[in-house]
Amino acid sequence: MRSPFRLGIGFVAVLTAVACGVPASTAPPTETARPEPAALPARVTAASARQAGSDELGRIPVLMYHRIVDRPKSVYDRTPADFTAELERLAAEDYVPVTTADLLARRLDLPAGTHPVVLTFDDGDPSAFALTPQGQPAAGTAVRILLDVAAAHPRFRPVASLYVNENPFGGSDDGRALRWLAEHHFEIGNHTRRHTNLRSAPEGAVTSAIAEEDALIRQSVPGYRPTTLALPYGAHPRREELALHGPGYSYDGALLVGAGPAPSPCSREFEPGSIPRIRSQSTGPEAQYGSAHWLDVLASPKGRRYTSDGDPATVSYPRSEEAPAPACASAGLAY
Ligand SMILES: [Zn+2]
Repeated sequence: MRSPFRLGIGFVAVLTAVACGVPASTAPPTETARPEPAALPARVTAASARQAGSDELGRIPVLMYHRIVDRPKSVYDRTPADFTAELERLAAEDYVPVTTADLLARRLDLPAGTHPVVLTFDDGDPSAFALTPQGQPAAGTAVRILLDVAAAHPRFRPVASLYVNENPFGGSDDGRALRWLAEHHFEIGNHTRRHTNLRSAPEGAVTSAIAEEDALIRQSVPGYRPTTLALPYGAHPRREELALHGPGYSYDGALLVGAGPAPSPCSREFEPGSIPRIRSQSTGPEAQYGSAHWLDVLASPKGRRYTSDGDPATVSYPRSEEAPAPACASAGLAY
């Protein structure tokens, strides 16, 4: 049985100190005047949850990217400048990246007042990630841009979930790229071996498409177990449960292709096998389904956005919300 809240108090203390904005320069220079270990934060209360505006049953943007290229050819492409601007917007609006696996495990241990966002990349495109011969993320790739933005905004964690097929990131890699990602806390997810439309495939082809990609990821990254899947085209198999469980594989959750914010994993609306995503997009056709639109909605007073109370052991929410799902009920705190 997996505990939904398993990070240590020390980590919470660090986050809370950051959230409180205590400047390092105020620390007295003498050893004796340092804060006692007892300066750990008190557990969240209804009053502190209200003050943080927390709503841990609120909605979470799971953003979907494909290629990061100078000359977009479809609504699925973004330029490096657009991608950078979107990350800068997220950082400025107090979002903190988490992975899809974090979402499913309810590992949303964020500073009070901040909001989780999941950055997902489909298809293993070399514009999302590539390593230089020296083993560094290549300039211009999404991962390099994310690392650079995070370096300028210390609270903005450089993590993302990358959904791959066979021969990811240009093909000739021997698993080096996937191992780099796993070693740096990025999530590697399954996108089927050959980008199979699971809706139209026969049952045997559905399970082999998922199981074979699962095996390829494990072979490339010894010890790594992928736990989430992005459904190619957002299409479920006709027997929906085969997306998560079949011969040789078992997954915690599956991502759709559209078209709005995801419910909190503690909400009664949350369905692990059908997590909606938002396409990264600011202008052009169907921009009403894109990220610029949805980030505006989520930031509005009625946006019902997930806002952390700073305490990963408590799920606090306004009393006007529906009660949490049974799995989170014992951690619930209505205010
Ligand atoms: Zn795809």
